[in-house]
Amino acid sequence: MTSHTPPGKGRLARALVALAALLATASAAGPAAAADGTLRIITFGAHPDDCELDAGGVAAKWAALGHKFKCVSVTNGDIGHAVTAGGPLALRRRAESRRAARILGIETEVLDNHDGELMVTLENRRQIARLIRDWQADVVISHRPNDYHPDHRYTGVLVMDAAYMVQVPFFTPEIPPLTHNPVFLFSEDGFKKPNPFSGDIVVAIDDVVDKKLAVVEAMESQFYEGGCCDVPAGGMPADAAGKEARRKQVHDFFASRFAATADRFRSRLAEWYGAEPAAGIKSAEAFEICEYGRQPTKEEIRRLFPFFPAR
Ligand SMILES: [Zn+2]
Repeated sequence: MTSHTPPGKGRLARALVALAALLATASAAGPAAAADGTLRIITFGAHPDDCELDAGGVAAKWAALGHKFKCVSVTNGDIGHAVTAGGPLALRRRAESRRAARILGIETEVLDNHDGELMVTLENRRQIARLIRDWQADVVISHRPNDYHPDHRYTGVLVMDAAYMVQVPFFTPEIPPLTHNPVFLFSEDGFKKPNPFSGDIVVAIDDVVDKKLAVVEAMESQFYEGGCCDVPAGGMPADAAGKEARRKQVHDFFASRFAATADRFRSRLAEWYGAEPAAGIKSAEAFEICEYGRQPTKEEIRRLFPFFPAR
């Protein structure tokens, strides 16, 4: 035996030194919220319009306070229309996402996966984990895995599968791991089986609801034109009065939908805002805490959602 280090062990030692340097860098970068108070939130929706509908209100509120919010559409939405499809529709929907991002003051990215064909693959899990790490996310939001559309379900599974793994050093080691497991949240839905959505965190969005309604108007392929499957009865209006009536119909539909969340979770709003203020809240967004991310205390929720009144 000699004290000479075999070539294989030398490589191992160098790899360990490199890993230690990598971890030191990651640690120095740290969770941004801990360093300067800036919160970093990333939301994954299956299609260009999901993230905006699910979290556009809180996105605008975080952005107004100087925090960083990113919308990611996991597919490009290229079959989400009744009469057009393919590349031109994907480009149109990406442009709509960018318009929405400008209205809300956030960043946006549309991944080039085909609409209706998203699968739970290792490569897609890696891609989601890389995006969460790259954003240095404190909070990650996505669909629940029991949702009506396969792309929604699989987006939910992919994001759940990235939870915890984002801090495992040798998973996608080309991007430094997070030093913490973010808080993972699900956006609201109405599905009941195997379990209904639980509104753990409910935020009033009355102060930004006009922005959210402007986003609805900006994403005209989906809402004004009805996307793939909600074309207005009788077809698209051709005259000015018909167009204005359609615009108002879409506006009123979504204003009621945002109000329905406040009504659904009125008692939960009372817990966060107090009974009297909660009674006057018209519109809200709701989120459920995923068990696979960090489990925040009430105090941490107040830090991550700096919108609630001091109690
Ligand atoms: Zn969708």
